[in-house]
Amino acid sequence: MSLRGQVALVTGSTSGIGFGIAKALAREGAHIALNGFAGSEEVRELETMLKAEYGVRARHFPADVSQAGEVRDLIQSTEDEFGALDILVNNAGVQHVSAIEGFPDEKWEQILATNLGSNFYAIKAALPQMKARGRGRIINIASVHGLVASPFKSAYVAAKHGVIGLTKTVALELVDTEITCNAICPGYVNTPLVESQIDQQALAHGIGREQVIRETILASQPKKSFIEVGHVAALVVFLCSPEAGGITGAALPIDGAWTAR
Ligand code: NAD
Repeated sequence: MSLRGQVALVTGSTSGIGFGIAKALAREGAHIALNGFAGSEEVRELETMLKAEYGVRARHFPADVSQAGEVRDLIQSTEDEFGALDILVNNAGVQHVSAIEGFPDEKWEQILATNLGSNFYAIKAALPQMKARGRGRIINIASVHGLVASPFKSAYVAAKHGVIGLTKTVALELVDTEITCNAICPGYVNTPLVESQIDQQALAHGIGREQVIRETILASQPKKSFIEVGHVAALVVFLCSPEAGGITGAALPIDGAWTAR
């Protein structure tokens, strides 16, 4: 197991891509700090599953990462609990779909704070300890919407483009260290975040889910299938390996050729 004994924090890991990443890192032997919204019973189940299945330590921290102070506490609590933080995966994210004229201000602020601000505050808080230990991996789960836009997603597209700008800047600031910082840019992955968009559009257009998936959701993704959570997680694991030491400042698409056109 290539990451045995390392400590990984994955924000937004009570669901979807984040939990897939947490499992993949645990499978490689990393201890896992979980984060994200969930009831206490669900949290216990997730922790127990990681410990039982992979023999690692796992603990959930309930920080709301849209709040700077809670992000700082999350990093500190992870370091206090596990004695280190080797791998930071900024994954927590939310979405809201609306034309800009009707886009609620509070949704704009929530998306910018959750999808972009949290990355800044987490990286800022994690770096002193990573620098002191002389190693680290920072992986920001951006999106294909960090590279190209779609209508009706102004806040999400702005935040994800911001994540890629932040990733490049941090990477440049770290070139004299063994710490790398990269972004992963998935196309559509079938998670609760996308499920709610499918349901909303089926309702709005009065059509079936299959038609929404084919004609709307996957319309921009030339390879007409969802990206798998496990494929995103496998790239995270590779980026954490010593062999990926030269990859930094990159925005790596896994998008079924979406950005190839
Ligand atoms: P999801 O809705 O399944 O999971 C989101 C996670 O973030 C949950 O654990 C939730 O509790 C957590 N979260 C949300 N707001 C939070 C907050 N303020 N504080 C702490 N945790 C919070 O979504 P997902 O599809 O797994 O998305 C994960 C990441 O991947 C997001 O950044 C998303 O933008 C990105 N992404 C998703 C897709 C996709 O198609 N699903 C594509 C590209 C990028």
